Amino acid sequence: MPGGWANDVRIEVDADGTITGITPDSATREGTHLAGPVVPGMPNIHSHAFQRAFAGRAERAHGGTDTFWTWRRAMYDVANRIEPDDVEAIAAQLYVDLLRNGFTSVAEFHYVHHQPDGTPYANRAELGERILGAAHASGIGLTLLPVLYRWSDFGDTPPRAEQRRFINDLDGYATLLDALAPHAAAAGARLGIAPHSLRAVGPRDLAGVLALRAERDATMPVHLHIAEVTGEVERAIAVLGARPVEWLVAHAPVDARWCAVHAVHLAERETQALAKSGAVVALCPSTEGNLGDGVFDWPTYHLAGGRAGIGTDSHVGIDPAEELRWFEYDQRLRDRRRTVGTSPHDLYVACARDGGVASGRPIGVLAPGMRADLVVLDPDHSALAGGGDTETIVDRWIVAGNACVRDVFVGGTAIIVAGVHRDAADIRHRYQATMKRLWS
Ligand SMILES: [Zn+2]
Repeated sequence: MPGGWANDVRIEVDADGTITGITPDSATREGTHLAGPVVPGMPNIHSHAFQRAFAGRAERAHGGTDTFWTWRRAMYDVANRIEPDDVEAIAAQLYVDLLRNGFTSVAEFHYVHHQPDGTPYANRAELGERILGAAHASGIGLTLLPVLYRWSDFGDTPPRAEQRRFINDLDGYATLLDALAPHAAAAGARLGIAPHSLRAVGPRDLAGVLALRAERDATMPVHLHIAEVTGEVERAIAVLGARPVEWLVAHAPVDARWCAVHAVHLAERETQALAKSGAVVALCPSTEGNLGDGVFDWPTYHLAGGRAGIGTDSHVGIDPAEELRWFEYDQRLRDRRRTVGTSPHDLYVACARDGGVASGRPIGVLAPGMRADLVVLDPDHSALAGGGDTETIVDRWIVAGNACVRDVFVGGTAIIVAGVHRDAADIRHRYQATMKRLWS
């Protein structure tokens, strides 16, 4: 709970899945008994669901000369082959896997919009609706972030042929946003906007997309990739005359509704400025490690009051405990110290709370008014044995446990029971059929 661990907690939930009361040391015993230590569900604040279909399949493609950019070519190859049914099947399986590990919501940074030849679908929101369908089938909470992808590089460089499924101008993007809005509302999902990056959306288009947001709902979350690789920083300096985050905080109204994804390569003054803006940084440690991106400066950022959440991005990792373990160990390895200013438990609490802020939904904290997204840990897991020392339960889960999650509730509904999703078999069959088709 916000004040720390409590015992015999009674959580009351209304018919819509919102917590209405939460009482420690409760003598009342009626209702559903939660069978282990309970923590708030973790929001996953950065996902490209379709990339799960090639996780682990891009590790030896270029004989030792791999870079972020050669990886991206392999990723585009998959992006250009998937059909609407595949998008839905892959996302549904991914979301079930995320739920099983303790992620109770996902912010889907969705950028494949058009048919394989680049023409929009008759329904421009076809693939976005498939993401909504997958979230519904799995039961995960959703923040849907349709992406504006306009150019291939800084300086409004025309898109490349292999980016044809991603590209929209501002009118096309407005149509997409308006087509998705009623469906998102009906599904209880939060809609946000996602200018892809300063590479793909120049200053003029960034202003344009923020104007669209102001007209529709100025409280919508804004997510963008920033400063993931050093080449991007060099190009920003050459074209914009400033480092990416330096440029962003000087030219855009960055506040707590913004989420800066990666933000790995920052000068110290940028780390300070980003912390001061109130924005949430989305760290994706397993993907950043897999791609060799670099390591975020958490101690400096945290000391400056900066906020962060975690995402699984390309989905080589799909477990919040693994992401937080990487988060910790990257920092410890770089600084050759055992403490980085926060315990794994503190990191969990901070990333759940601030991940909720970045998701634009009332999640990540167990308190009245928030969604009843609950993760019940398995009291029989060897890493959690011994009882007593509650303070270290989350530390033990993160550094010493694998598959410690027993039950998962989203909006008060049991989605995972004793490790099993209610529709696991159907979702797996559809996923296997898609994978067979994609990789045969
Ligand atoms: Zn990403």
